[in-house]
Amino acid sequence: MPLTLFAGWYRLPLYYQILLALLLGIVVGVAWGSDAAVLALPGKLILRLLGALAPPLILAAIVHTLMTAEFGGRDSLKLARLLILNTLVAIFIGLSVANLIQPGVGADLVVPATHADISQKSANPNPLVTFLDNVPKSLFGPLGDDGKVIGVIFIGVAFGIALRSQRERAIGTAEDLAELALTTLIRVLHWIIAVVPLAVFGIIASIVGTQGFGGFKALGLFVASVIIALTLQAIYYLTRIRFGSWVRPLMVLRGTRDALVTAFSTASSTATMPVTFRCLRDQVGIREKSASLGALVGANFNNDGTALYEAMAALFIAQMLGMQLDLQQQILVVLTSVMASVGAAGIPEAGLVTMTMVFNAVGLPLQFIPILLTVDWFLDRCRTAINVMGDINVSCLIDGKRTGTLGNKP
Ligand code: ASP
Repeated sequence: MPLTLFAGWYRLPLYYQILLALLLGIVVGVAWGSDAAVLALPGKLILRLLGALAPPLILAAIVHTLMTAEFGGRDSLKLARLLILNTLVAIFIGLSVANLIQPGVGADLVVPATHADISQKSANPNPLVTFLDNVPKSLFGPLGDDGKVIGVIFIGVAFGIALRSQRERAIGTAEDLAELALTTLIRVLHWIIAVVPLAVFGIIASIVGTQGFGGFKALGLFVASVIIALTLQAIYYLTRIRFGSWVRPLMVLRGTRDALVTAFSTASSTATMPVTFRCLRDQVGIREKSASLGALVGANFNNDGTALYEAMAALFIAQMLGMQLDLQQQILVVLTSVMASVGAAGIPEAGLVTMTMVFNAVGLPLQFIPILLTVDWFLDRCRTAINVMGDINVSCLIDGKRTGTLGNKP
């Protein structure tokens, strides 16, 4: 019976699992009150695992993209310029909206005490806490001088199992190696994401139990703010297309709606790539070279929706904690968000992994990322659609003002 329940649970889509975990967390938080504080532990650990996976995942994604993408010519320079500009505009829009609406102000969250306990294991001799403290904070830490053998075992077990299915795979070229590293890391990431609902349950129960519902009103406002900012980014894209290319904005929206709907429904811009390319070439009539440069090459680096979201999320959590991020810290948010968006693989929830990097850079506590998780299943879809729209924008602008291959149109 428990096994059937377990299998049934994993057959549910992730967003159902997260919604159920959210509801359960609220019920348990209300019932247990401040005793629920201890439930924040699993969330903390899962976030720690995500944080450990982020740097190698980003590294593998960038190395893999640079190894496999076809570059060259003037268009590539134009592509690089457009990518940087669009990402900076996205972050600027995100930070402006978050500074203007201030969705997190007044929520007055505090960091629950248990989080301090876990990191100060000498002050807390609980063997479970001591054991859990060995969950690696970074993938290479335990192999270096932090000397935590249990951490090495964790990593060995995870990658040993992840690589079992790949053992017959032939490695002929360096590209195969980069591909193997990326696939294996993504596999481990999927396992961590599978326990994310547990993190949501725990952190929500602990927050509701110890601090009530203040944070949730703020969360609603945050969702609204992100949607406003993403809409502004979409307007920016369409305006640039209107004045920088031969394509008309309505024509783009009509011709690429399959890609936008696919992006929203899969939450994966990588999975959407072939659809985006086909829509641009066959429905809109963009030249094949421009469509491929924007939608296939650029797509690997171009995650403006993710950049905008990460910057807004950092500011939102800072506001909730009553922390003022000064200009210097906001600039740090900009820089890390740019890197985080470049390194984010085009798969569901990738932004969540790289967000740990942004939070670490400005000293925000990672344990509040699960609060965002409660709405991330939805916002991930919205930002993925904007990521894809960014690829569409770049393709159109590279295609320029000279009318494209209308002959391609159906
Ligand atoms: N899901 C997004 C994408 O595929 C990445 C992210 O999580 O922000 O583009």
